[in-house]
Amino acid sequence: MRKDSSPKKSTIYTEQLETFHRAADLIDMHPRVRLELEEPDFEHIFYVSLDLRDRLVPLDDEEAGPFKDLPASSMKAGVALEPLANGDFVLHRRALLDADITVREGVIRIPKRGLFKMVKGEPRKFKAYRIQHNQVRGPYKGGIRFHKDVSLDLFKTLAAEMTWKTAIADIPFGGAKGGIRIDPQAYSREEMEHLTLRYMYKLKNLMGPFLDIPAPDVNTNGAIMAIMMRQFTDGQRTPHAFRGVVTGKDVRIGGSEGRLKATGQGVVYCIEEWARDREFSLRGARVLVQGFGNVGSAAAEILYGMGAKIVAVNDANGTIHSDEGLDVDALVQYVHQNPDNLKKTVLGFPGAAAISKADFWKVDADIAIPAALGGEIDGNVAETLRVKLVVEGANGPTTPDGERVLAGRKIDLIPDIIANAGGVTVSYYEWLQNQRMEHWTEQEVNTRLERAIKSNYAIIRDVSRDRPTKTPAHDSRPYCIGKEVDMRTAAMVLALKRIEAHYLLEGFSQ
Ligand code: NAD
Repeated sequence: MRKDSSPKKSTIYTEQLETFHRAADLIDMHPRVRLELEEPDFEHIFYVSLDLRDRLVPLDDEEAGPFKDLPASSMKAGVALEPLANGDFVLHRRALLDADITVREGVIRIPKRGLFKMVKGEPRKFKAYRIQHNQVRGPYKGGIRFHKDVSLDLFKTLAAEMTWKTAIADIPFGGAKGGIRIDPQAYSREEMEHLTLRYMYKLKNLMGPFLDIPAPDVNTNGAIMAIMMRQFTDGQRTPHAFRGVVTGKDVRIGGSEGRLKATGQGVVYCIEEWARDREFSLRGARVLVQGFGNVGSAAAEILYGMGAKIVAVNDANGTIHSDEGLDVDALVQYVHQNPDNLKKTVLGFPGAAAISKADFWKVDADIAIPAALGGEIDGNVAETLRVKLVVEGANGPTTPDGERVLAGRKIDLIPDIIANAGGVTVSYYEWLQNQRMEHWTEQEVNTRLERAIKSNYAIIRDVSRDRPTKTPAHDSRPYCIGKEVDMRTAAMVLALKRIEAHYLLEGFSQ
């Protein structure tokens, strides 16, 4: 049993540790192993700085008064005058080439956009993190998040989750997470590139295909991974030998087929298993999706292709609803293939009604897929949900309170550490292909992914119901603990038994 010497303040990290200690108690975990896993191996906190470009910032109505008569300037929009998602423009000097401009007291009028004041660029620094939680099963592995609300506590939580997730997926990796505290909507593509280069530069000695392997997470993608790979391999005589330093790369530069949709695909494989157990048909099933980024849009697209109805989608900028079901293919085009949709939001999608976020959670449906940020389904939201199943596409979307309410209302829950493990599983396939200099087809990738997710899901379900079973596809006998537990605890039992085996069999260095 855990002994607490002093009462600790409750944080998302300590909340997550409750599940860890519950499962550790159930398997009577070796006390030294518990200590090893309770805190990360390393917490790297550092700063990255950047020279900002000059900007054009919109004038508010009060400031605009004296400039009403200012003639419009003509400048090349696009690359030279780069629009940012927060409404500013980055003013590249080349915008002045061939321009015909009128500036008064640093104010300029851009046709069809209005009045802007020029703001000189300045250096700025940002707090950055890389938390390396555990590497007993293999190299540290975990995503890079660029977001204004990140913290040490959050990254510790997410890094630990990666340790559990890689064990559940049964891939030879450990757990890590990191990123930069920044609102990317306020910075240009070039500024984000420079920041990414600085971030990797500072971490160069701590990263590597056999040491620590980043991947995309919120607000990062294959383009950011390419920049990180370039920085890491820069100066190497055999750069190709280090391609596995990041995963989630574009397929043309060593990424895996199927990686882009892998997390959403894994979510759907879990839903299929749940539906098979419940004898529930997914054709016509009504689905709520929160977050229409990588995970949410891929899960929605695949379910839509299987005949399910996506009835409402909520993202950071709004919510859309259609009782007959949204045209998901058109929605993906609208959000992801549309250069004018700078915020990549579902808001304004034709053929759907805008509703409030509070009403989103009340929409009558069968399945809810939170695929945005953590802490979204709290006790209040869990009270209003009208679904049979919550599948955690995001990391930590359900609070402990929310989970208690869901359990009380007999709403099933598939926890994040199995539901969204598809991404890291295909990241491992990408890493394997990089090591072997191979390129697998999407079908090969998905066949392996389906087998991996469904067999590990079946083990967790058996642990949860205490039904030790061996089939040609899975063997849950070594993991069942002689009593029934909820799915999240069952998933943690599986993770901890796999991790603990390394310490027990290999021993500790003294
Ligand atoms: P993304 O940046 O591609 O998309 C995030 C989506 O969430 C966007 O649609 C955004 O508008 C929405 N969002 C942000 N804040 C919101 C808010 N307050 N309310 C409602 N919506 C909001 O990110 P992603 O890669 O799809 O990741 C989503 C979640 O899935 C994260 O929790 C991430 O950690 C987790 N995850 C991602 C992967 C992966 O492979 N990308 C793998 C495992 C887990």
